[in-house]
Amino acid sequence: MKKVLSGMRPTGKLHLGHYLGVIKNWLELQEKHDCKFFIADWHALTNKYKQTDDLKENIKQMIIDWLSCGIDPEKATLFIQSGVKEHAELSLLFSMITPKSWLELNPSYKDLKFNLYYQYLRDFLAGKQVKIIQTPPSEDFDQAVERASGKVRNKIFEEYLREAFFRAFYNKKGIDFKGLKETLIKLGIQKKIVEEAVKNLEEGDVGKDIDTLGFLAYPVLQAADILIYKAEAVPVGEDQLPHIELTREIARRFNNLYDSIFPEPEAMLTEESKLPGIDGRKMSKSYNNAIYLSDDQQTVNKKVLEMKTDPQRVRRNDPGNPEVCIVYDYHRIFTDKDTVKDIDKKCRNAEIGCVDCKKILAQNLNRFLDPIRERRKEIEKDLPTYEKIFQEGTEKAKAIASETMTEVRKAMRLWEF
Ligand code: SF4
Repeated sequence: MKKVLSGMRPTGKLHLGHYLGVIKNWLELQEKHDCKFFIADWHALTNKYKQTDDLKENIKQMIIDWLSCGIDPEKATLFIQSGVKEHAELSLLFSMITPKSWLELNPSYKDLKFNLYYQYLRDFLAGKQVKIIQTPPSEDFDQAVERASGKVRNKIFEEYLREAFFRAFYNKKGIDFKGLKETLIKLGIQKKIVEEAVKNLEEGDVGKDIDTLGFLAYPVLQAADILIYKAEAVPVGEDQLPHIELTREIARRFNNLYDSIFPEPEAMLTEESKLPGIDGRKMSKSYNNAIYLSDDQQTVNKKVLEMKTDPQRVRRNDPGNPEVCIVYDYHRIFTDKDTVKDIDKKCRNAEIGCVDCKKILAQNLNRFLDPIRERRKEIEKDLPTYEKIFQEGTEKAKAIASETMTEVRKAMRLWEF
């Protein structure tokens, strides 16, 4: 049994992607380990410091979502980060011993910036009706750009755009806007559109929200979150690995400078959910393409009907290809194996229509969500009682955090009050 710690930022209602990527794993972990799961409300401020109106409501929704999914306060300690002020104190002390370069060089900080800029550019171009074809590049980038710009005017390949942007972002210190412009024009996008997009990148608000000390230093707060409970393992996706490494480095540095207090936690690698949103893009609130755990039956039915299918299958008697169909991606997870096999065969032989195929999926999704909905109703009827669970959990966490801080202050020879 290990001491495990994991948290989630309260940014809104949870969707199926959250369930598959995080909650499902937590349900297993709480059976085997000493788990602490926390609502990371301070972390929600790192890039959303302007929008605090809905923070309390988001915390409430998170409490309801976790408990209705079966996260069990009898098995795990559930708490709210900002209720344990010791996290902030330890984070401050850690910030004194953390070289700035560790944060600036943190690859996930750079990746987040890259993703933000890239997402903006992609969405901007998509909004301008620039068709994006998803074709992985199979040849040298420069040759491919030549070919794409020569033959397919006004079309870009998503991968090439990514590559173009990647080069512009990483090859120079900042973004090489001139080079980016040239490449986009080479890719066949109208000069006017390119200029508008790049101008917004250069001068606009993109990225401003993460140009703060809080955002740069959030891995230090994360290290404090983990080490204050002397957690031995932290479930993370691959993109979070550098943060765990940083936590280990901070622990090592502290132990070397003062006393050996902190363990070096290990990362428990978890797979990110591959379930796409109903439009095929990554499932996300901001794309308005998510199926929420709190969606009622009618909403789920409607969203499933809107799902994109094999674009080549225009008529009912056209054979389809389930491999390129989003509905099928969902079937693989929510439908039993025999039916999935049957759908695969019938789709390829045009023996089933997409509407019928979607009806089967909607039924299965609703069957999966029904028990969660039932529990949600119970919790909503008496929310204060369930909120109390988190208050008690926060007290429990605080007692441990407070003990660690006494040790830390002693080790650092700080004034005792
Ligand atoms: S029959 Fe089902 S799997 Fe095949 S294209 Fe239609 S929705 Fe997708």
